[in-house]
Amino acid sequence: MTMEVAPGVFRFQVPVPFKLGHVNLYLVDTGNGFILVDTGVATAEAARCVHETFKQVGIDYSEIAGIVVTHFHADHAGQAARVQQLSRAPIYMGKPDADYVHEFFRDGPPPDLDECLASHGVPARLATAFREVLPALGRLMIPFAADVAPATGDRLGGGRTLIGVLTPGHTPGHLCVLLQEEGILFAGDHILPHITPHIGLYSSADPNPLGNYLSSLEAVLRIAPRRILPAHGPPLEDPERRVRELLEHHRQRLDRMVAATHPPGSTAWEVSRVVFGGDLDLVERWLAFFESLAHLEHLVLEGTLRRVRDNSRTIYLSH
Ligand SMILES: [Zn+2]
Repeated sequence: MTMEVAPGVFRFQVPVPFKLGHVNLYLVDTGNGFILVDTGVATAEAARCVHETFKQVGIDYSEIAGIVVTHFHADHAGQAARVQQLSRAPIYMGKPDADYVHEFFRDGPPPDLDECLASHGVPARLATAFREVLPALGRLMIPFAADVAPATGDRLGGGRTLIGVLTPGHTPGHLCVLLQEEGILFAGDHILPHITPHIGLYSSADPNPLGNYLSSLEAVLRIAPRRILPAHGPPLEDPERRVRELLEHHRQRLDRMVAATHPPGSTAWEVSRVVFGGDLDLVERWLAFFESLAHLEHLVLEGTLRRVRDNSRTIYLSH
């Protein structure tokens, strides 16, 4: 169902094959073409859904002036290539994510993943299962390259003032978009109403995603948007309150991580079992592990924990 959530801003929901159920896509009528924010997964069902919505709103692909991909995850980036092929519009993406996409489609998942998982205590059987999840996610995306990699403050196309706001954390190059006059922030997965966005450490090229995420939340407090339109769930009418809740959530989680690293120290895997419990499915286990790693590394960088190599294991312990 398509809803006009603000004047000239249309939200529609595209189904995704994950627990989340759907992703919100937004069409912004700029008076000089439409900007599409996010694209959905690359399934026939999602393609049909986008097609039907365009028909309902009464726009032709040729009227798309720009495609914003907030980050490289399949539910956001999956159909970017398809929409671009039909519209010839530029794809806007934060530079680190644009680079990541380029490397992912060229080289596949990083080769040092197995060694990383083993050193952090992930059982071999689960590491193999994790590895098998990745190609399935890749299949939900059509390969593409971003045309324009905006920095914070860059104006995106169209006739209304839409500016890019880089918000690294959920991914290294996560991009929000601010509709300046109205104070509306299209937040992608940076700020969500019902769940806390996943913050995981996946690459040595981005050693402190949690630190980046907390800074990106502070950046949103400074922008002080009046409304947030997220990629999952309903609009947020009190952005400041939600941002403060997210900051507090991570503060508490950091405390629990410290408490879970009693002497003689624990691996990131062991910490994730203590903090998140054992009753999780495979994907949840995976997310819990990378989320724990992001918190532990943040604590190391801020000097609260030490990371020690113990034979082939990496363990964390408090001073
Ligand atoms: Zn995401």
